[in-house]
Formats: sequence, C-alpha cells, structure tokens
Amino acid sequence: MFNKILIANRGEIALRVLRACKELGIRTVAVHSTADADAMHVRLADESVCIGPPPARDSYLNIPQLVAACEITGAEAVHPGYGFLSENARFAEIVEAHGIRFIGPSAEHIRIMGDKIEAKRTAQRLGIPVVPGSDGAVETEAAALKFASEIGYPVLIKASAGGGGRGMKIARSAEDLPEAYATARGESKAAFGDDAVYMEKLLLTPRHIEIQVLGDGKGGAIHLGERDCSLQRRHQKIWEEAGSPALNAGDRDRIGAICAKAVAGLGYAGAGTIEFLYENGEFFFIEMNTRLQVEHPITEAITDIDIVNEQIRVAYGSGLSVGQGDIEFKGHAIECRINAENPATFVPSPGKITYYHPPGGLGVRVDSGVYQGYKIPPYYDSLIGKLIVHGRDRVECLMRLRRCLDEFVVGGIETTIPLFRRLIDNQDIANGVYDIHWLERFLEAEP
Ligand code: ADP
Repeated sequence: MFNKILIANRGEIALRVLRACKELGIRTVAVHSTADADAMHVRLADESVCIGPPPARDSYLNIPQLVAACEITGAEAVHPGYGFLSENARFAEIVEAHGIRFIGPSAEHIRIMGDKIEAKRTAQRLGIPVVPGSDGAVETEAAALKFASEIGYPVLIKASAGGGGRGMKIARSAEDLPEAYATARGESKAAFGDDAVYMEKLLLTPRHIEIQVLGDGKGGAIHLGERDCSLQRRHQKIWEEAGSPALNAGDRDRIGAICAKAVAGLGYAGAGTIEFLYENGEFFFIEMNTRLQVEHPITEAITDIDIVNEQIRVAYGSGLSVGQGDIEFKGHAIECRINAENPATFVPSPGKITYYHPPGGLGVRVDSGVYQGYKIPPYYDSLIGKLIVHGRDRVECLMRLRRCLDEFVVGGIETTIPLFRRLIDNQDIANGVYDIHWLERFLEAEP
C-alpha cells in the first residue's frame, strides 16, 4: 500500500479522506492556505504544508505548489477530493508526470467527461440512454432553429464546457430561440472560454437520479445503486436520498447494470457518478462526474462500502475489495447539507462558531471539519458539514432525521438547519413525491 498520501483539499472532505488513509495505515499530508492554518484537517494530519494565501487560485488551485508539497514530503499519491482540481485533467497529468499517483481516473477519462458533447457521445456509444438532442455541437442559429422544430419546443441550449448550470438557456418557442442561443454561447464563452453549445429536449418534471460506480481500471466495474438528488436550489443539491423514493429494486438493478457495463467498457479507474434525469419511468443521461461526490456517504450507509478506501485501493493497483455479488442494499439514508448560510435568503454567514453540538446515536454520521471556536473563513464554499442518517426503511430514516435536526446546535452563525426542520414537516417530502423544481417552488411559496 502507499506509505503517504497528500490530500489536495480542505474542509469536511479533507477530513473524510484523511480518515480513510488512517484506517489503511497510510500517513497523511494536509495542505492549507494561510486562512486555514487552524482547520481540523491540518490538525489531524501527520504533516501539513502551507501552500499559499487565501484565494483558492493561489492555494488550493495552485498546481506547482501542490506538486512541490508532494516532493518535499515524499507523498506517493494525491487525493483531490471534490471541487478544486478534482476534475482537472491537466492536474492529473502533471501529478503523474512527476511520478505521483493521482487518486482518480485517467486524465483522458476526466477530459472526455469534462466535455459535455464528448461525454454524451461516449455514453451513447456505451449503451447509456441519453436525452434526445442534437448530435454534437449546434454551430449556427439556423441549425438551432431547424433542430428545435424537429424535436419540438421547449428546448434547452447547453454549453459543452458547462458546469454549475452556467451557459444553459431554455427556448420555449421559435421566437425565443435566437436570444437563448446567443446568450448561451456568450455566457459559455465568458465563463469557460469556449462557445460550443448543443441542444436537448427540455424535460419538464424530471427527478435527478445518479448511479455510483466503481471501476477497477482493468476492465471490471460495479455499481452501488442510486442517489436521488432532486431537491436542489439553483442547481445546488441540498438534500439527497439513497435509494430514490421513485425506484424499486428492479429499476435499480437494470440501470445499475447498464452503468457498470459502460464503465467497465471504458476501462475506468476509481469512483464515478453517472447522472440522469428520470421522467415517466425512463432514464436520460446528463453527465458523468469523474470524482468523489459530496453525497457519497448515503451510498456508504446503505452498502457498507467505504468508497474512499476503494478509490485508494484502485489507484494503488489492488483492484476493488468487492464484486457486484457482494453488494447488498440495506435500508434508507438521507443527507442534509449544512451550509453556513441564512436559511431563507441563502446569504453566506461566515464567522466564529461559538457553540457546536452535533447529533449522535444509532444510524447517525456527521462529516464536518468545524468545532467550537472555529472561524469559518469567507473565501470558500459555505458547506460546513453533512448530516447523514440511516434507517431500516425510509420512515425510520425520516424519524431519526427529525430527532437529529432537533439535537443539532450551531451557535454564532446562521445555518440551513432550520430549512431542513421545515422540509421534514412537509407532506410531499414525507411521501417522497418531488421533482427537480419542487424545492424552488416551495421556497417561493413559503419563503
Ligand atoms: P451542469 O454541469 O452545468 O450542472 P447538467 O447537464 O448537469 O449541467 O445540468 C444541470 C441541471 O440542469 C440538471 O440537474 C437539471 O436540473 C437541469 N437539466 C439539464 N438538462 C436538462 C434537460 N434536458 N431537461 C430539463 N432539465 C435539464
């Protein structure tokens, strides 16, 4: 096994990766900006290296500094976590060129999936169902109009280089189309330096359902079932469930097998997530994320598989510890993302945590890097922790979650905990009946 891993991230995910390393007997190197000198991942690591000033581009995105930190400490591998450099093919390439293992898929696979047009084409070739749409880039307004009249309005114009919902525009009619097309191209050019766009049929009331996959890098792969991440605000997931209230075991096996086969066909290494929109019993591929996801713990809760441990094993060349036949889905899990934000306006609320009491007990996991007295810096995203609750079924899970939300106290700052207390009292949530627009409608109706 590796002797030493550098964790190129911060916050709860740095801690999450550190825990997997410790359990494997691997020494850990934390990196941090000057704003994060007091962070928990720095305190718990065997060694730490300051890699720059607070802005992420000068620290957590600073590739030369990260490579230097590996060389100084003798780290043999880098775990990128999520966000920052985790889906940066160039980073994976540079790290590997320095004889350091990148814990993730090949740079080539990261690159394919980072280009939405290429990703969709690849998915289709591998037998994954996709949203009906243009075959590749739509290069002129005339082509866009022609295509939209073929598949029918409303249509969605999407940036090939897109991410975080940017460069995405709806056209409801032929009158709308020229402006939507031009805006999508312009936004994409400004945000990503690339104005290639493609088109899809707009699905009206889908759920967001994603499949967790693990590839051994040698042509073998398994799936760990689905997560339902339909509860979103501005394309940001807020609450996730495993399994989806909308799927049964047969649906899960069917789409899971398709995904595992596709990933095996790619020769993919490590953890990945294939994201779908799900409507009227059908799955439509939207993208693949080539990294660990924020919401991975709910899958761990229902499968008992440590996904980070598997990533490290695969990167080392040991393959996966389990086969598909070993995977059993047990019970139901829900994750609530605890953000340091006002629960109604979602304005960030950085500052000092004066009191901190996380919930505990059977079936409860809190992944967080904060502690009483910790000062949340204003430079990074506002996720301060994740509450993950597991129950033998969805009803038990919801009852346990309600109890945990009552227990959870974070003083000194505002958090999204009060929003979750409202959601758990809602009848649609109790029934598991919601689509990707549900949360925004709820927030508009009951701000
Ligand atoms: P990004 O990488 O920018 O997040 P995605 O392709 O993952 O882009 O899409 C983001 C979100 O946009 C999806 O989660 C879904 O809510 C919505 N979306 C994407 N494609 C469609 C579509 N064809 N119909 C309806 N909604 C869509």
